[in-house]
Amino acid sequence: MVEGRVVPEVDRFAASQRALARRRGRASLKRDLTTRVTAPQEIVRRAVADSDSDAATMRITDFLMALPAIGAGKRDRILEELHISPVKRLGGLGVRQLAALSEWLDGRFPPHRARAGRSRLLVLAGPTAVGKGTVAAHIRENHPDIHLSVSATTRAPRPGEVDGVHYYFVDDAEFDRMIAAGELLEHATVHNRHRYGTPRGPVDAALAEGRTVLLEIDLQGARQVRTADPSATLVFLLPPSWDELVHRLIGRGTEDAEEQARRLRTARTELAAQNEFDYLVVNADVATAAREVVELSTGLVR
Ligand code: 5GP
Repeated sequence: MVEGRVVPEVDRFAASQRALARRRGRASLKRDLTTRVTAPQEIVRRAVADSDSDAATMRITDFLMALPAIGAGKRDRILEELHISPVKRLGGLGVRQLAALSEWLDGRFPPHRARAGRSRLLVLAGPTAVGKGTVAAHIRENHPDIHLSVSATTRAPRPGEVDGVHYYFVDDAEFDRMIAAGELLEHATVHNRHRYGTPRGPVDAALAEGRTVLLEIDLQGARQVRTADPSATLVFLLPPSWDELVHRLIGRGTEDAEEQARRLRTARTELAAQNEFDYLVVNADVATAAREVVELSTGLVR
């Protein structure tokens, strides 16, 4: 500030609002790191790409402490090893410090890589409320070439749901019969309530025709498919940020506090499973996420 100059009230207010927005932005990024919604390498990339970004203004100490399983002791050892001063911000790192940090991050959080030889059996899973149903519906409407599996379920149809289109609505006895007859590729009880399963026949038939098959199922189902067919391609849908997932999960505010807390805990556990998957797709925008899922299926071998 220039000596003697009086900063107008409005300017001071605007500056404090900007500072507040920055702090909020950084706090939000830290939550993304802790919950694994965003890879640490991506935060560093943003810091380097834009020196005015929230990522660039994040202290290296805060960055490291937000990473899963890093406490104060480990943080200090890492900074020493990488020759980075604890007062540095991500945007202020030198070229060599950046290279050292990136190498360390790649060692500790290996970048996501699909295994070779994936098949056209595509499984779309992800945390609760990430929007897999919406992405799958978008694919069903815009890509009739892709066979979207119709699951069997013991839950009752919702208004507008059509038997044989959205689900096969069956009773418990019929579901038991399907399991006993080996008709289900996988099945699970979801949210401790109803049972859902993927009929095997239509999946096999579509694959035999050389079509891509998409299963929109829960995490337990995705694991079962991997066991039943190790060549299946597992796609994990990520929210654009943890805050956005929270918004989608509890935004409607129709559940009580206990139920909301339970859902958030579940989402955290589900996010921790992303490393079991071959591909990560961010669902910031339904059409883009759907296109990415479709595009990656065209590169698959069998
Ligand atoms: P909803 O009842 O809201 O349609 O679906 C609830 C959950 O069941 C969603 O997370 C969906 O992914 C999952 N789901 C739907 N069909 C299947 C299925 O065939 N198998 C498994 N394991 N989960 C399913």
